Amino acid sequence: HITDTTTLNNGVAMPWLGFGVWQVKEGSEVIDSVKHALKAGYRSIDTAAVYGNEEGVGQAIRESGVAREELFVTTKVWNSEQGYESTLKAFEESRSKLGLDYIDLYLIHWPVKGKYKETWKAMEQLYKEKKVRAIGVSNFHVHHLEDLLADCEVTPAVDQVELHPLLSQRELRQFCRDKGIQIEAWSPLMQGKKFDHPDLVEIAGKYGKSVAQIILRWDIQNGIVTIPKSVTESRINENADIFNFELTQEDIAKIDALNENQRFGADPDNFNF
Ligand code: NAD
Repeated sequence: HITDTTTLNNGVAMPWLGFGVWQVKEGSEVIDSVKHALKAGYRSIDTAAVYGNEEGVGQAIRESGVAREELFVTTKVWNSEQGYESTLKAFEESRSKLGLDYIDLYLIHWPVKGKYKETWKAMEQLYKEKKVRAIGVSNFHVHHLEDLLADCEVTPAVDQVELHPLLSQRELRQFCRDKGIQIEAWSPLMQGKKFDHPDLVEIAGKYGKSVAQIILRWDIQNGIVTIPKSVTESRINENADIFNFELTQEDIAKIDALNENQRFGADPDNFNF
């Protein structure tokens, strides 16, 4: 079901399916699409300070009438704000823009070299103060996680990374499974750029589903939290309509075999923003 959850390493429940709002414009665009997603049954929203739309996300949540405790809201500290004090301050800004008492999941957006450990200490502080229900990271490779795990008090609950059939992140997924870190896929739909992939089209035809639905179903059956984005009502609905069918193990294996280590976003070892 659309509200099905995974249990994070601290016992907090997180929906398998969420609604991503990167590149969704602040104001009516984000307000309308988040409201539509909540109406369609999504209970998890993924935003970030740098997306510039936290106020609209908060307004949509308030106007939706959905009870706060039913929702799971993620936001992220941006690269320029990393460091201990600046993260605490950035958190307050995000919290106040969203208009929420607490955030469900707060993430380090990218592993800024020389800074992310200090940033993590601030995340741990926010967690201890119960201002966030869970803390995690984003765009961390295995080596970033190993480095952080060697020093941290609180193990990250989540690592949100680019992950889709052409970048299936097998090694990172195994590492996270072993450490109790939930993997979450960003750009799960390859930003809409590969819906014509012949193998995916063939599998989709077999189930009478869209390629988007096949990919999202592949995520969930693989134990991957997924957060597709759309501002189009019919697609928001379509992306949520993935709980009434199951891929066979054979088809999952076929999709697993499509990996080409192809990124649509930046490599966390080589970003400059
Ligand atoms: P996505 O892979 O979810 O693709 C979204 C695009 O696919 C849409 O803009 C639309 O063009 C198309 N699309 C969506 N549903 C469709 C459908 N049913 N049929 C046809 N086309 C459809 O891309 P994304 O927005 O990059 O990623 C999803 C979310 O992940 C973001 O909104 C954001 O919340 C998160 N994210 C996080 C990071 C990070 O660094 N942590 C980076 C990128 C994205």
